Parts: sequence; C-alpha cells; structure tokens
Amino acid sequence: MPNLALLGGRKLREGKSFQPHPVLGDEEKELVMKVLDSGQMSGFIANSSDAFYGGPMVRELEGEFKRYFNIKHAVAMNSATAGLHAAVAALGLGPGDEVIVTPYTMCASASAILMQGAIPVFADIDPDTFCMTPDAVKKAITPETRAIMVVHLFGQSAEMDEIMAIARENNLKVIEDAAQSPGAAYKGMLLGTMGDVGVYSLNQHKTITTGEGGVVVTNDDDLALRMQLVRNHGEVIAADLGVTNPAITLGWNYRMTELEAAVGIAQFRKLDMLNEHRVGLAEHLTRRLDGLHEGIVLPHIPEHNTHVYFVYPVKYDASTVGVPRDLFVKALVAEGVPFGAGYTKPIYLEPIYQNKRCFGDKGCPFDCKHYDGSVNYDKGICPVAEEMYSEKLILSGICRYPLDESDIDDVASAIEKVLENASELESYEAG
Ligand SMILES: *Cc1c(COP(=O)(O)O)cnc(C)c1O
Repeated sequence: MPNLALLGGRKLREGKSFQPHPVLGDEEKELVMKVLDSGQMSGFIANSSDAFYGGPMVRELEGEFKRYFNIKHAVAMNSATAGLHAAVAALGLGPGDEVIVTPYTMCASASAILMQGAIPVFADIDPDTFCMTPDAVKKAITPETRAIMVVHLFGQSAEMDEIMAIARENNLKVIEDAAQSPGAAYKGMLLGTMGDVGVYSLNQHKTITTGEGGVVVTNDDDLALRMQLVRNHGEVIAADLGVTNPAITLGWNYRMTELEAAVGIAQFRKLDMLNEHRVGLAEHLTRRLDGLHEGIVLPHIPEHNTHVYFVYPVKYDASTVGVPRDLFVKALVAEGVPFGAGYTKPIYLEPIYQNKRCFGDKGCPFDCKHYDGSVNYDKGICPVAEEMYSEKLILSGICRYPLDESDIDDVASAIEKVLENASELESYEAG
C-alpha cells in the first residue's frame, strides 16, 4: 500500500477544508447597508461639477488611502487594471513609446501599456525575489524608452533605490504595480509611494477586496487630475476644468460604485491586521521548512524589505529531490493542501506578443509609423523568468487570514511527506 495520496494512500488532510478568503464581517455589512439605504449606488456624473469626483464612500475610501500611505492623492478605480491603464494614459505614454516591465506578473501590467498603444519591453527578474532587476532594466533602455513599470511581486519590493536612480538618469517615469503588496515596505517606505504613481488591486483574491476594484496614488496634482479624467469620460470635462493638454484626457468609465467603496473602507481598516496575520503564518511555515531539504529553497527577503506574503514562494530543485516539479506539486495537492506550479507564463510567450497582433490584424502598435524601435519577444529573452515558470517555482497563497498555525502545519507536513516518499513517484512516472 503506497503512502502518497496521489497513489491511493491516505490523504494527509482529509475532511477539513481551509476556510475561504475573504472574510467579510459586520463592518463591511454596516457600510454596505448604509449605501443601500441611501439609494445612491454611484455618485459619479461626467461633468465638471462636484460629482466628477464620485460619491461619499468613494471619497472616504480615497481618504483612507491618502492617510495610510501619507500621499497627496488617491483615485479609486473599478480595477487595478483600469488604474494601471489610467496611469499609463495620464503620464502621456502612447504610440512610439517603450515601457520596461517584468514578464513575470499578471498580464494586466503589460496590457495596460499596450492599451495605450505603447510598447512593453520585457526585462528579466531576480532569481531570489522574482522582481525585475535594476540591471535588466538598464539593459532594456533604448532611445524609445519613456517609463518603467515596476511590479512588487508576491508581497515584496523590487530594488527601488537602483531603479529610481536609473529612472532619474534617463528621464523615465515610474509606475509601481503594488497590486499584491499594499502595506509592504522597502527601507521603511510603503510600496506604491516611491514612483510617480502606485497602483493597488482590490479584486476578490487580493489581501483586501471589494470584489473588483483598484486605487491609484500619487503626489503629483496634475497627474491625479488626469487620472480622474481618464476614470470619468475626461474628453468632455477637461476644457471646463481648464486642463491645458487635452490630448491626454480621453477617458473611459473606470468609476467605482458606492457599494464597492463601502466594502473597501471596512476592508482597508483591516489591512495591517491581515498583513500581520500573513507574516506570522509565513514565518511559521519558514520555521517548519527550514533545513528540511536542499531541493526546497525558502523565500529570500533582503534585509531592507518587509514582505507581506501575498504568495509564499518556494524554489524547487527537481534534480536533488528526484521528482519533476509538476509531479511534486500534483502529489502535494493530492494530500489536500493548495499549491501551484510556475505562477504565470512569461507574458511575451502569449500569442498576442508572439504574433505582434493586438488591435485587429494590422500590426499596430508594433509597426506604427511613430515607433522607431524593434522590440524582441523571442523565447529566451528572459531566461530566469522562463526557468521559474517552467521548472523552479512552487507557490501557495495559504499564509492568510483566517487560517492558523495548525493549517500551516498540515502544509509543512504534506511537503515532508511527499519528500519522504518521493521514491514512490518513480512508478507513477513510469505510468
Ligand atoms: C491582480 C493584479 C493586477 C490586476 O488587478 P485587477 O484589480 O484584477 O485588475 C495587476 N497586477 C498584478 C501584479 C496583480 O497581481
């Protein structure tokens, strides 16, 4: 009788589900009921009146972000994807411009660039933090480069001092995609507050959630106004607001409803508690896995980073364990603990980039007459990201509220069990 559940053995975690994310409580319900009782589901109107800025809940949510991040402006959006696009648009990026971005991120980081007709140029990641390296950014700069989109992946920061220095030297704008990392810090500074714009996500799966939603933050008055214009049909409002460069005020509907904002206010007030919970569980998992096996490499956190563990990443070495990664993960999942393999495919390997076709089949923006560069999306351009995706990374979002150390103990025990019984998997491979 085999030991591993994948082969018919007894499952390590049986009949005990992990409590789901998110947890919504009385605080959220109370604020949502206030909105329902008021009848005002959205406060937005596309004109230059006060309604341009949205309803009371939206503004209160923005106020919470401004206070917490100690920043001048917060603009609520109906997703972080919308926020990223509004940031790219408001910075005046467009056809002919290149923006440097990591390929190892949710697709939206790069799509936001393409949506504005600008060109994503992918720069490789660090094999320990999984964030884009300053060195790769430097190498990716061309005469067409106008901005850098930094993604703080899994809950910790990219090397911001170096990246900001490169940006200053080359006169580049910096967008921080902090969708996964609200509350995490770099050298004591909160992620999202160091570049020109920071973007946070409030989607269902993120640390704090409104179902769908996002918030952008900036200290730049002009940029904030332009992001508000992009949020709310700016083309018909810009003139009334005295905006001098109407070319970058074309808007969409990126407005957040009062219901989402109400949930967001209650959720945001729990952010520190939720992050502390994550960190506590992650540190417990690290203690349990420390020194277990040389094929299981634990998260690397540079001393100046405060990680909030949106994801707990482990680097796996198939050659020392003797089991291919995807099979190892399959065996873990069979034991009843949630793990995934690889995170996302490096974005440039997706067909839209491989074919360089995105707006219909005409080839814009890659062969736009304003574009003098020649971006390369060949397989192999970011070998570290490709290796993490196809061979090394295993990950879990398990270090989260309201789980406790006994849940994490099951996760650690499952890893121990699969390692101890790895030899059983040889027959599985053989068929
Ligand atoms: C979730 C996420 C986004 C997009 O967030 P939405 O609110 O779903 O649009 C963007 N970037 C990263 C890194 C993310 O994890």
